[in-house]
Amino acid sequence: MTKYKLEYIWLDGYTPVPNLRGKTQIKEFESFPTLEQLPLWGFDGSSTMQAEGHSSDCVLKPVAVYPDPARVNGALVMCEVMMPDGVTPHSTNKRATILDDEGAWFGFEQEYFFYKNGRPLGFPAEGYPAPQGTYYTGVGYSNVGSVARQIVEEHLDQCLAAGINHEGINAEVAKGQWEFQIFGKGSRKAADEMWMARYLLQRLCEKYEIDIEYHCKPLGDTDWNGSGMHANFSTEYLRTVGGKDYFEALMAAFEKNLMDHIAVYGPDNDKRLTGKHETAPWNKFSYGVADRGASIRVPHSFVKNDYKGYLEDRRPNSQGDPYQIASQILKTVAEVPTS
Ligand code: ADP
Ligand code: MN
Ligand code: MN
Ligand code: MN
Ligand code: MN
Repeated sequence: MTKYKLEYIWLDGYTPVPNLRGKTQIKEFESFPTLEQLPLWGFDGSSTMQAEGHSSDCVLKPVAVYPDPARVNGALVMCEVMMPDGVTPHSTNKRATILDDEGAWFGFEQEYFFYKNGRPLGFPAEGYPAPQGTYYTGVGYSNVGSVARQIVEEHLDQCLAAGINHEGINAEVAKGQWEFQIFGKGSRKAADEMWMARYLLQRLCEKYEIDIEYHCKPLGDTDWNGSGMHANFSTEYLRTVGGKDYFEALMAAFEKNLMDHIAVYGPDNDKRLTGKHETAPWNKFSYGVADRGASIRVPHSFVKNDYKGYLEDRRPNSQGDPYQIASQILKTVAEVPTS
């Protein structure tokens, strides 16, 4: 038997953006534990905005397990928060609101800033570095600094070792800003992996004394880009049947549900979706072929392929909860009759 360090990880009850929480329990297993072998566990919900003090027990229900690349005999255990009965989802448990993700594929593009001493990494203590231009996909010290790429590479290696399905990484438009992409067949799978990748990034950065700034417009109303988390999505029907009529009906449903989508696409999105910096205004739905200034970008390949394939919703922001984003997209998709 081997003693495993099981890091149970969950989302707390803070609004509008939940925080990642985690605690360790040690359990013996013959070999790396399967999900079925992992027991329910509990925590004090009064310390996480998930319960009142007098009746504060919440239940952690494991829903995904990954090898922990940074710990000897470690496992990362993604959990849903349940009521004390162990079967009723807690009101903060948004993963449980994803009703049906059969056949749904999601690709999330997470943008974020590294922050040190309250400034983006690589910014001088006062004033600003050279304006945006050569940072995006850039190379060299003056473009990406010296520490950022080291962290990004370490994070990528950790995620791959944990079995997270990264599809790529790149330096972004602003100095100190980066992106990684995660793709999953099943929205829960993609969203679980996104939260786990965020966890690994934040934990890795502790030793560098660097924070991750997920806010969508950390530099306010300046010429510095904000951060998004574009959600690329497809369903079985979109990939195999599609068609112009279906596509137009789908876009009409997205337009009708504009406010429901914006409500879960991350806080302060009105500061980011201004119509500038490759964004569409937050309060007006639009779509366009290869149009990075539209709410939904329709890839060339989609049109060429008789309106089959995937679509990119460019509105979700870097602070958004991928569970809520996927849940709302699939809810709108489900409103549109297929054939
Ligand atoms: P860009 O920066 O040009 O928008 P990226 O390469 O960063 O493009 O992101 C594109 C994303 O689209 C990737 O995360 C990829 O996994 C995702 N994607 C590709 N095909 C599909 C599909 N059929 N369904 C859902 N997502 C997809
Ligand atoms: Mn205790
Ligand atoms: Mn991208
Ligand atoms: Mn990007
Ligand atoms: Mn994109």
